[in-house]
Amino acid sequence: MRKIIVIGAGIGGLYAAKPLSEMGYNVTVIEARRREDLGYPWYDSVEPTTFTDVGLDVPEDAVIPKQVLNYYAPSGEGKIKQPDRAGKSLDVHREKLIRFLLSRLEPHCALRFEERVKELVIEKGAVKGVVTDKETLDADLVIDSSGLFSPCRTATPDDFLLNDPLHENDYIVAYREVYSRESTDKEPRPNVYLYPAGLMLAWCKTEPDMGGMDVFLGSYEEITSEGKAKALDFLRAHNPALGGELLSTRKECVPLRYPLGVLAADGYAVIGNAAFMTQPFCGSGIEVSLKAAMDLVSVIRELKDAPFTAEYLWKYTLLFVKRFGAYYAAQYVFRQAIEALSPEDLDFIFTSGLFDKGVVALATFDKAHIKDIDVRGFFRGFLSTWHRKDIVTTVREAFNRAVRAYLLTRTLPVKYDKTKVATWKGQYDAFMRAAAGEIRRAYLDAKK
Ligand SMILES: Cc1cc2nc3c(=O)[nH]c(=O)nc-3n(C[C@H](O)[C@H](O)[C@H](O)COP(=O)(O)OP(=O)(O)OC[C@H]3O[C@@H](n4cnc5c(N)ncnc54)[C@H](O)[C@@H]3O)c2cc1C
Repeated sequence: MRKIIVIGAGIGGLYAAKPLSEMGYNVTVIEARRREDLGYPWYDSVEPTTFTDVGLDVPEDAVIPKQVLNYYAPSGEGKIKQPDRAGKSLDVHREKLIRFLLSRLEPHCALRFEERVKELVIEKGAVKGVVTDKETLDADLVIDSSGLFSPCRTATPDDFLLNDPLHENDYIVAYREVYSRESTDKEPRPNVYLYPAGLMLAWCKTEPDMGGMDVFLGSYEEITSEGKAKALDFLRAHNPALGGELLSTRKECVPLRYPLGVLAADGYAVIGNAAFMTQPFCGSGIEVSLKAAMDLVSVIRELKDAPFTAEYLWKYTLLFVKRFGAYYAAQYVFRQAIEALSPEDLDFIFTSGLFDKGVVALATFDKAHIKDIDVRGFFRGFLSTWHRKDIVTTVREAFNRAVRAYLLTRTLPVKYDKTKVATWKGQYDAFMRAAAGEIRRAYLDAKK
């Protein structure tokens, strides 16, 4: 019986483990943490059909209707409502989701908790197993679902084409905290602020289980206690329901990078945060991890008795690029434009009317809400913006580059040829890495 090891109880790995065991593979999941520490004690949003699309019958008590967020400009003014797909988006409880994924695995495969994978066993250019802090285990395939800081992926040999290093702007450091809730005349609104009080992003919304307020503070840099206090003051000034008593706190990191160009090597496949499978606009990764896992399973199913080589697993990368990768490459480029603009210019754009729910839907490829574009509002916004050469240039530059990123991503070789794949990946990485600097340069040049 062929052996598959899943490193980490990441969402993609946990999802894939069950069908792979049912197909007759001997599957073992190795997770560093204690079982009871898995998942997060909060709700995160997913699109309405995420779970049904992958055939998951998530328990009813794990999901609630989504709190649709209002995005505010750095000044705290200029609101843009987040598109809510067909009004049916969901918030899912992260601990309940993980518990559910674990429970469906139990009868089928071995789950080893409190065991840390330290490195891969690599022989003759192929992964043959893992070394944990307890023993060495052999495997025909290792699926790396160990999150952003995977100790294995970045240590793979160069010719695996998978060891992209982590750069400082590839992820944000985030505090997710619950505070007491003050009574207010009006029901608090779920609000998100861009670049508030020196951070990159902060939100304040209600926390349904503890009856408190759910706070997110995110930044590319470590958040100091002073920075945190300043951001909380900002949030309290805009959200009177946000109380002073801290009920829970957790520090995590959220990837915001474009996805890895190559997702598999001989005997090895990467999934979820370990492959930067999150939406570059907001860091959402539940849906994409589950759907990538579904596609990986379908590729392995087609393999039958064939070996788990880079060539045979190449279809996994192809399916990912088609389903998500090319869109996320474009989204990543768009985000660089938002990051290039000064807070004052972002305020200007938010209040111009140029961006409404429908335009945001267009930029985020949300087909259900593109029809909500307020055409008159858009033209009013356009008229108030067109004389701003710096903004027009930046938006144009970002749009051109986003389209090029999308097209370049989709030119990856259909048939696996290592040299061609390496050439394509080199072009993809160079283009994506250059995007931020070039958009910023265009913005600053136009400002002169
Ligand atoms: C604050 C916050 C808010 C978010 N909001 C949303 C949202 O609204 N919507 C959404 O879709 N997504 C959201 N996400 C992102 C989402 O959580 C992830 O993208 C998604 O869970 C995929 O991550 P993962 O499962 O691959 O990795 P992880 O969740 O990081 O899981 C990796 C697992 O591997 C284990 N591990 C690590 N190293 C080892 C090792 N060496 N050996 C063994 N085990 C190891 C870890 O203990 C962990 O259990 C949010 C994330 C955060 C932090």
